[in-house]
Amino acid sequence: MILKNLILAISNSITDVSKPKGIVFDIDSTLLWNTRRHLAIFREFGQRVGIPELTSLQPLQVEDWVLHNTMRNAGLAEEDVEKLMPRFLPFWQERFFSPHFCQYDEPIVGAVQFVRWVKECGVEVIYCSGRHLEIVEATCRSLASFGFPTEPPAVSWFLKPKFEMLDLDFKLSAAAEISSRWNVIAAFENEPEHLDRMSFYLPEAVHVLLSTNCRDPHYPVKNLQKFLKVENYAKILAEIRKNLSSRASLSF
Ligand SMILES: [Mg+2]
Repeated sequence: MILKNLILAISNSITDVSKPKGIVFDIDSTLLWNTRRHLAIFREFGQRVGIPELTSLQPLQVEDWVLHNTMRNAGLAEEDVEKLMPRFLPFWQERFFSPHFCQYDEPIVGAVQFVRWVKECGVEVIYCSGRHLEIVEATCRSLASFGFPTEPPAVSWFLKPKFEMLDLDFKLSAAAEISSRWNVIAAFENEPEHLDRMSFYLPEAVHVLLSTNCRDPHYPVKNLQKFLKVENYAKILAEIRKNLSSRASLSF
C-alpha cells in the first residue's frame, strides 16, 4: 500500500503551489553499485603490498562497506587484516572518493528508469550524497553516462562541501534545507541510520531503504511507519506498470 500510494503521489500532477515536489536520492549503494570501485582499489593495494589474495579478489568477495569483511572474504587471517588496515584505509580513502574511480560506478537495477520517470512526472530529482564537491563533475558524468538526469532546474545537487565532514551530519543539514524548499514525497537511502535520522526533517516523505549494502545493517530504525524496504527498483517499476496508464509509463 505504501508503494502504491507513493507511485500515485509521484504521478499526480497536483502540486503545492508554494513548493515544488521533489524526491531525495542518495547515490552510493542507492543508485549506483560500488563493487567494481572497491574491487579495483583492493586489487591495486594487493599489487602494491604483494598479497595475491587481494590481487585476485573477486566481485562476490566484496561484501559491504566494512572493509575488514572483504579482506576476510579474500582469505586473509584476522591478524593480517588488523596489520594491513592502517595502511589500507588511507589508500582506500584516497582512491574511493577520487574522480578517476567514478569510472567503476554501475547503476542499480531499474534505478535509471525510475529516476527518469520521476523527472518525467514533473517531480524534481534531488541528489543528496556523502560524495564531496570535488568529485561533482566526475559524479555528474558517471550518472549522465547511464542516462540519469543531471541537469538543473529539474535536478538539484547536495554534496558534502568538505571531504572530512561526516556523511550523517551533512545529510541532516541538507535534509533541513531540502524540507524548506521542496515538498518532499520520498527519500531513498541505503543507510538505515541516515534514513531514520533524516525522517525527522522530512516527516511527510515515504522513506525507502535500499537493502543493497550499508555500514550498519543492525541499526534499529525507530520510525517504521513510513519505511519501505526494496532490493532494487524492479519491484517499484513493476508497480508503476501495474497502476498507471500507458501515458505515465511510456518511457520504459
Ligand atoms: Mg549511500
